[in-house]
Amino acid sequence: MSQVPPPAVAMACCTACRRWFVVAPARCPADAAHEILDRPLSGHGVVFSFTVTHQPMRASAGDRVPYATVLVELDEGPRVLAHVDASLPRPAIGQPVLIRAQDDADDPHIPPGAYIATARPRTPEGTP
Ligand SMILES: [Zn+2]
Repeated sequence: MSQVPPPAVAMACCTACRRWFVVAPARCPADAAHEILDRPLSGHGVVFSFTVTHQPMRASAGDRVPYATVLVELDEGPRVLAHVDASLPRPAIGQPVLIRAQDDADDPHIPPGAYIATARPRTPEGTP
């Protein structure tokens, strides 16, 4: 059985002004002549902020609280919201993380394509 790679992390970006978009507009608002293309992202970033939810949105999710949601600042610049996996039970601002897109085989409570953050070790300053 072959292993299917996780869905890639990508975001729309203007080829001219490098502005990022969660939802690609038909044209860049900075200059209608700019082209918007999906660009792959490394998935590497740090926790910019986070919140912990204690009240379930649905009764069926009552056994899942409390859970954290993080705002990740990616190395390429954009910030994205992400669920956390078991490796990140207590996120901290500045915590290095790796995000990936949820696929169908993962948690059924998280929609396919949503981002999942996994903890990654800190590296000494100045090293990639
Ligand atoms: Zn632009």
